[in-house]
Amino acid sequence: MATTPTQAKPGHARHDTALIHGLSSADVQKLSEMSIEAKARAYCPYSLFRVGCSILLKDGSIVQGANVENAAYPVGTCAERVAIGTAVVQGAKKGDFRAIAVATDITPPASPCGMCRQFIREFCELDMPILMYDKNGKSVVMTLGQLLPMSFGPEKLLSTDQIALEPHQESRHEEN
Ligand SMILES: [Zn+2]
Repeated sequence: MATTPTQAKPGHARHDTALIHGLSSADVQKLSEMSIEAKARAYCPYSLFRVGCSILLKDGSIVQGANVENAAYPVGTCAERVAIGTAVVQGAKKGDFRAIAVATDITPPASPCGMCRQFIREFCELDMPILMYDKNGKSVVMTLGQLLPMSFGPEKLLSTDQIALEPHQESRHEEN
């Protein structure tokens, strides 16, 4: 069911590649519209690089974010981290995130920066799709695992039991 470019509204075309990740076309439509809408609210007077983000949660709700910059440049934060922080404060837990969409004004689409990939990794499964929209609303879809291979997550941290059994601790006891 192809639509010609003249029939499709900009930013609202169907994105069949996302459907393989278990999202309905309605989910994809909502993620697309809400990330592009969030982009319009970016505060980026220094870079002029607008980024909008939308997150689809398991309950069907959408949380938005946009980049918010600062006169002290490194203090500014990315759209993805604004959106995830908002979702967490609203009660979202690890496992509640179904998909993340990011929209920018460039083409080909921009992907989340390294810091955001790690931030996303804290709360999301490796097979979660990340939809990246270009200036014309065309998307590329990749999973978190593809964007952040061999990643480090909270489950990799040692438990307090494991830390107590660290070899150097034992040898110190033997010396005494
Ligand atoms: Zn980022």
